[in-house]
Amino acid sequence: MLNRNIETFIGCESEYSEAELVIFGAPYDSTTSYRPGTRFAGKEMRSESFGIETYSPYQDKDLLDIHVFDGGELELPFGGPERALDMITDYTARILADGKLPVMIGGEHLVTLGAVRAVAEKYPDLHIIQFDAHADLRDDYLGQQLSHACVIHRCWDILGDGRIFQFGIRSGDRSEFEWGKDHVYTEKFTLDTLEDIVSQLEGKPVYLTIDFDVLDPSVFPGTGTPEAGGITFNELLKGILTVAPLNIVGADINELSPKLDASGASTATACKTLRELLLALNTNKEMK
Ligand code: MN
Ligand code: MN
Repeated sequence: MLNRNIETFIGCESEYSEAELVIFGAPYDSTTSYRPGTRFAGKEMRSESFGIETYSPYQDKDLLDIHVFDGGELELPFGGPERALDMITDYTARILADGKLPVMIGGEHLVTLGAVRAVAEKYPDLHIIQFDAHADLRDDYLGQQLSHACVIHRCWDILGDGRIFQFGIRSGDRSEFEWGKDHVYTEKFTLDTLEDIVSQLEGKPVYLTIDFDVLDPSVFPGTGTPEAGGITFNELLKGILTVAPLNIVGADINELSPKLDASGASTATACKTLRELLLALNTNKEMK
């Protein structure tokens, strides 16, 4: 018997029923404030993922030894974000109801709100760890409250004070930083205090959101709002491996805009990040 040729992310070929992790794409970029194109990230990552290995020498683990289902890309509408966010929330809720771990591929960072709505419903004590160049704490951007520039403020609306921990932040309005002091934990520029924060969050349900512009543009130019002064890939990897032993109940990667980096290196970096994230989370799953 022959199999259908359906392209998944490399090594993510499990049936849904046996999967512990579910990846899916949320190709939405309508509120992107500068250069759109993140809607192409998931598709591009699937095809480019065949340029990387399934084996991780960092973790001595292989995607072929774990069970990941690739749900493909959600068919999200263009324009106003509410319907797209609802579809992301519904899809995430189904994964959670089936006892599996959702890992979303954005899309612009606003898609995180859709997933967090579902995850916070199941885990009311949810905490968020955010790697990002931008605070994303505006209450509105050009009058729009549902914008990728406001996504973490919208998550705060759900979770409240003391639940959000952001790292690598080096861009935002002065008022965002002022507001943030009273409501979220912000480490500017680096991930140096991550271990301390992780030790405080042991046992708590945690959602990890990785905005790829946390990386330096020299490492990752393929993003809509590049911001100089970012971290290296190795620092990001160390951050993921530091967070992964926590009780991670959902995660996403976002803001890859593949066509902005004609070399393909940003997409390859995103693929490698996803591989490491999946392998790290799977360990966590076995520990739970
Ligand atoms: Mn962001
Ligand atoms: Mn950002």
